[in-house]
Order: sequence, then structure tokens, then C-alpha cells
Amino acid sequence: MAGKRSNRDIKLKRRRQSSNVQQELVDIIENVNNKPILRQSAIQKLVAVNRRHRLKMPKSVGILFCKKCLTFYDSENSRTRIKHGQIIKSCHICQDVRRLGGGPKHHRR
Ligand SMILES: [Zn+2]
Repeated sequence: MAGKRSNRDIKLKRRRQSSNVQQELVDIIENVNNKPILRQSAIQKLVAVNRRHRLKMPKSVGILFCKKCLTFYDSENSRTRIKHGQIIKSCHICQDVRRLGGGPKHHRR
């Protein structure tokens, strides 16, 4: 019998494989030449992979879609405003509002 593989090895392998999958999905999502329906399903898959493997959502992708209803932001279904140094994104589908950025400078230390 070959030596038993430790739990840690399996964990590392799983993490590596899942982040490979994550990277592939990110590539699909970031490629604007892909069809919208493909990018949309890649987002749903990415969220599922992240949940299963407890991975972080890459920042570059996380701001492209609504985290609540998982639809791509575009000029039709969302509104973007800058207020007090924050980006405020409103989704018209689920009425969700996200605020990105640190906010007013006088709040920072
Ligand atoms: Zn939404």
C-alpha cells in the first residue's frame, strides 16, 4: 500500500483546483467578446464555486454584477452615482444598493 495522503494534501489540492476553476470563470466573465448569456452563467457558477470552497470573490469581477440577484450591471438595469467619494450602485431589478469605496475623506484616519 502506498502511503496514506494526509488531510492537508487533499485540502491544498482542492484549494488549488478550485482556484483554477475560479480563474477560468473570471476569464470568461472579463472577456467582453463572450456572449452575455455565457457571462451570466459563468457568474452563477463562480458564486457557486466560491461558496462551496469558501473562496474570495476577485475584486475586478465583484463590482461587475449585482450580488443579490446576480445580474450584470449595465446602463439599463442599474444606476451608478458618485456621492461623498463613494460609488453608489443601485440595481433596478432587486432594488439593492451597494456602496463601494471608503466614503468621505474626513471620515478616514
Ligand atoms: Zn440586483
